[in-house]
Amino acid sequence: AAKPQSHAFEADVAKLLHMMVHSVYSDKDVFLRELISNAADACEKLRYEAIARPDLLGEDPAPRITITIDADSNRLILEDNGIGMTGPDMAETLGTIARSGTKAFMDSIAAAKGDEQTQLIGQFGVGFYSAFMVASRVDVISRRAGQDEAAIWSSDGLGTYTVGTVSADEAPARGTRIVLHLMEEAKDYAQRYRIEQMVRAQSGHVPVPITLKDKPDAEGEQIADGTALWTRPKSEISEEEYKDFYRSVAGQWDAPALTLHYRAEGRYEYNVLAFVPESRPFDLFDPDRKGRMKLYVRRVFITDEAELLPRYLRFVRGLVDSADLPLNVSREMIQDSPILSTIQKGLTGKVLGELEKTAKNDPAAYAKLWDTFGAVIKEGLYEDFERRESLLRLARFKTTTSGGEWRSLDDYVAAMKENQTAIYYATGSDIERIAASPQLEGFRARGIEVLLLPDSVDSFWVRGGIDMDGKPFKSVTQGAADLSLIPLPEGAEASKAEASDEVSSFLAFMRETLGDAVSEVRASDRLTDSAVCLVASEGALDRQLEKLLANAGQ
Ligand code: ADP
Ligand code: MG
Repeated sequence: AAKPQSHAFEADVAKLLHMMVHSVYSDKDVFLRELISNAADACEKLRYEAIARPDLLGEDPAPRITITIDADSNRLILEDNGIGMTGPDMAETLGTIARSGTKAFMDSIAAAKGDEQTQLIGQFGVGFYSAFMVASRVDVISRRAGQDEAAIWSSDGLGTYTVGTVSADEAPARGTRIVLHLMEEAKDYAQRYRIEQMVRAQSGHVPVPITLKDKPDAEGEQIADGTALWTRPKSEISEEEYKDFYRSVAGQWDAPALTLHYRAEGRYEYNVLAFVPESRPFDLFDPDRKGRMKLYVRRVFITDEAELLPRYLRFVRGLVDSADLPLNVSREMIQDSPILSTIQKGLTGKVLGELEKTAKNDPAAYAKLWDTFGAVIKEGLYEDFERRESLLRLARFKTTTSGGEWRSLDDYVAAMKENQTAIYYATGSDIERIAASPQLEGFRARGIEVLLLPDSVDSFWVRGGIDMDGKPFKSVTQGAADLSLIPLPEGAEASKAEASDEVSSFLAFMRETLGDAVSEVRASDRLTDSAVCLVASEGALDRQLEKLLANAGQ
């Protein structure tokens, strides 16, 4: 065989590896889940390619993952008969960080301190590289399905890796073998009970059966049967099993906040198992981030890039298994299929329905959920015209009178003052600063509730000309604030909007002094304590939106 080629890791990978190698993260067990999930992905990719090319399966059609313990030489070996990789494949996928959102992860790592960093490793699956938490050297020997040549990738995780060829009898007939040379302090993993317990706890529901050999020449024993959890009846599935499955499908290590498992029967039939996570994925606001719902057709994984949910529900994880889509359809064609759009519509309705139910039956759980994903759901207010009404009912806001709690618009409308015709809001970049704005004084003095809108999406949806029960949304910074119609409570000091002689001569002085810098200077009802504030004129851009556009270079 030719001499192996040495390559340097991409800078981000080197950084990540440095963290893995020096990781003090206590829960190193997660490396196994990452490797098993890659092996299962590889089996599913093969199953998909074999629809068009059945010859790829050859004599060995059933997917399988085998874990072998070699305690004598301190090695742990994982093998799958999936799609496999060529040498160039390995240089590409095991030398770079291809995952979307990993950049965001690296940024949050850079910002975090010691303890928090290790927490982040735990929350975010770091994929293949987590092997270096337990191994001082990793060899990946692989043969791409349908090819004769096999290749080996090897690294100690310290900056470089090599890629070379191996002879046919040293490689699996098809698929990938990963050999972990365990670190001294990770020797524990070369024990049967450890591995068995980890597989049951983390990967019991991957859709590929897992066999364990406790010695290289021992008989294997099946420790996970590869049945698809979503095809089993709901009543037989424990919360623990759902959680375990959620972790393997979502690549997140928290727990689901909501679980949605149902079978749709009607014009089209499909199974859904979907989860709303408990915590935010790191790349939630990455503009490239796509939805993460997987599409299966009769238990065969097809793609995780089909748009099964609208963008504003991109935090939902899980899968749809369709009985109607043809298996041999290209991924591109699937996107245009009327079956897919029916599923999308049904699924979106179900997810929103489940959110509504939670809002009604468990307001505390819903408040937490809104805290985590509300900023994303609000994107739907301008993206999904059809469902705007239900999204408005789902929306929660902090307001000038809510004392830090979330309020619904129903609550707001019910508490409106006599003569109040609009829903007032103030936008800005953080709640405290908005709440301290002098623009709110006149509203406070009259006991009028104002929504505090701190997210960048807020400036967009409020301008969509939308209303709630016929009440338009109106910015406190825009134009005359109709406050004169609503009386101050007795005893409160009113600032006089109607101009006395003194006021009008002061206004004239201001106009002269400020000149073209402002379009108008006028007395206002909106202030009680502060002397002046800046407002946008009626119909002009809201001040916060103006700032956003200026930042975006518009
Ligand atoms: P992810 O699984 O999110 O893509 P990983 O770091 O876990 O990220 O894996 C990186 C890539 O390496 C995978 O996308 C895949 O292309 C490749 N890979 C890893 N393990 C295997 C395997 N057992 N068989 C085939 N390809 C693999
Ligand atoms: Mg992976």
